[in-house]
Amino acid sequence: TPFVVAVDGPAGSGKSSVSKEVARRLGYGFLDTGAAYRALAWHAEASGIDTDDAASVISSLASFDYRIGTDPAGYAVHVGEADVTDAIRDPQISAVVSRVARVPEVRTHLIELFRAIMAADAAPGIVVEGRDITTVVAPDAPVRILLTASEDVRAARRSAELVGSSTSDVGEQMRRRDAADAKVVDFMTAADGVTTVDSTELDFDQTVEAVIGVIRS
Ligand code: C5P
Repeated sequence: TPFVVAVDGPAGSGKSSVSKEVARRLGYGFLDTGAAYRALAWHAEASGIDTDDAASVISSLASFDYRIGTDPAGYAVHVGEADVTDAIRDPQISAVVSRVARVPEVRTHLIELFRAIMAADAAPGIVVEGRDITTVVAPDAPVRILLTASEDVRAARRSAELVGSSTSDVGEQMRRRDAADAKVVDFMTAADGVTTVDSTELDFDQTVEAVIGVIRS
């Protein structure tokens, strides 16, 4: 089992880009767990399943052939033969992903998958990011970090990523998704032993350095 760095945080906190860069600099693997929930939402939609119906979502797990790479320099997400790396970032997927993520059977299934990927990784360490990594997926990880930023800063960063979207629309969608997700797992407050890194006043590079600082401390 490699050295696990667990990173949690809300939407737009930069945890994905920051975790990926930290992994790249340290020669570690990288696992984006949100991609799996997004891929399942994509799979359900592609199968014509009503994502609001938990029983249908659970039944779609049986045909969910999910694969993700752990190389931070370029990882692809596949569902069966389909490369869904870009498709899972679509705002339509962001709008429905919380519905599949709130189903307990989905979480149990995906958490097993994440633990298997972590255990199989050949790198000396792996940075795993999501919402419940520090508390549920890898509560015994030697490094556990909660990456936060003010709501305004998170909305601004998100809208900069989504070309053509206004900050207020993105902010509204982000708030709605965080509120739905927060009913399932608490990723806004640091659990016991978890170090908070607040990136509100930090640029990307400073945030990466801050996380590496926590890993080395
Ligand atoms: O991190 P990202 O925004 O890609 O996550 C997409 C969605 O996946 C979240 O909104 C949440 O519903 C779900 N998720 C989760 N637990 C995780 C990671 C993501 O429930 N560990």
